[in-house]
Amino acid sequence: MTLPVSTDTFRPMNTQSVRDAFRSTFGRAAKGVVSAPGRVNLIGEHTDYNDGFVLPIAIEKQTLGAWAPRDDGRVAFASLQQPGQGVEIDLCEPITPYESAWANYPKGVALELSRAGVELAGCDVLFDSDVPLNAGLSSSASLEVAAALALLTAAGATLPPAQLAKLCQRAENDFAGAPCGIMDQSISVMGQAGHALLLDCRSLETKHVPFNDPQAVLLVADTRVKHDIGDGGYPERRGQCEESAAVLGVRALRDATISQARIALEAGQLSEKHFLRCRHVIGEIARTLEAVEALRADDLTRFGELMYASHASLRDDYEVSCEELDAIVKAAKGCEGVFGARMTGGGFGGCAIVLVRADRAEAVRDAIIAQFQVRFGRDCPIFATHAAAGACVVE
Ligand code: ADP
Ligand code: MG
Repeated sequence: MTLPVSTDTFRPMNTQSVRDAFRSTFGRAAKGVVSAPGRVNLIGEHTDYNDGFVLPIAIEKQTLGAWAPRDDGRVAFASLQQPGQGVEIDLCEPITPYESAWANYPKGVALELSRAGVELAGCDVLFDSDVPLNAGLSSSASLEVAAALALLTAAGATLPPAQLAKLCQRAENDFAGAPCGIMDQSISVMGQAGHALLLDCRSLETKHVPFNDPQAVLLVADTRVKHDIGDGGYPERRGQCEESAAVLGVRALRDATISQARIALEAGQLSEKHFLRCRHVIGEIARTLEAVEALRADDLTRFGELMYASHASLRDDYEVSCEELDAIVKAAKGCEGVFGARMTGGGFGGCAIVLVRADRAEAVRDAIIAQFQVRFGRDCPIFATHAAAGACVVE
């Protein structure tokens, strides 16, 4: 299906362009190409570390990895996004973190694959990605999953999807030092075209939920900011959730109810702040499950209301939004044909998503860009996406 909004803000990329780049980097032809998508979370924000639910889709932006075998027991990684910063590992030596930050992602994946018993084979891998880096669209997970697929294909091995996702997450947590949950890697591995993925972050059970109404399209608007406050804001929110769960006597906030939290507030056991954090998490988990029901009932109007409610809760109760995200959501709300909008990802910057009638997508995109320009004096790149497929061996 063609998209009503052009995605030409971003550089074109395809299997031929990555094959060409592989040839200029390594001086010979690639043997194969793998791909792994980025993601947006439709709803269920800051619920993962509270044992709740998330509902991401894979987006039509991906990391490609072109690879070819080599016979000296070494693996080389290079990326068009990090020119001149290729790295090599010797499969006979222990794999250790390297001075180049980006390469810790694929190197961590190589280490985790070998720990999982995969007999790695020597190969060269070149990555190219049209997932914007550091925008909250999970370029890191798409890089890890693409690296894993390239290494597995070169080794002639396979792993079950859930194990692959877990192993990529461990690579990011331990080797790249980023404390992400399991959502990003799960959706990049398990995404299905036309479907969102309901992920139970406690049991790790997954369900594919249809997200393929031809009348609708999802816009992704990139604020291109990441406010510093976010660095401390995330661990602080996590800490407040854990403290609240301890006060309420539950394993995680997933097991708490709003009335329990209110009683604890009135008894002076929970601070006002802690109560607001609880109200977001408990409400957001309920909204996520309701959003799944709305999708199953083909009720995008209700789904959109839940998106707006999620945004308001993240802004007011969880306090992780920022003026750029609020401005995009407000601009979207003022447009005809918009079902709903919200910030997506951890917050303090990153992207907002807007669910809009396909025939209004172009006009809504233009309106948001214009209002963002007036307010902040710069561009806000917006692309349209449907729910894309998960990682695969392309050729
Ligand atoms: P996000 O995942 O939201 O884009 P992260 O900070 O988690 O942001 O990951 C971004 C980092 O991942 C980049 O700074 C870079 O180190 C690495 N990365 C992601 N994609 C690529 C790529 N195609 N080539 C090289 N490095 C990449
Ligand atoms: Mg990331």
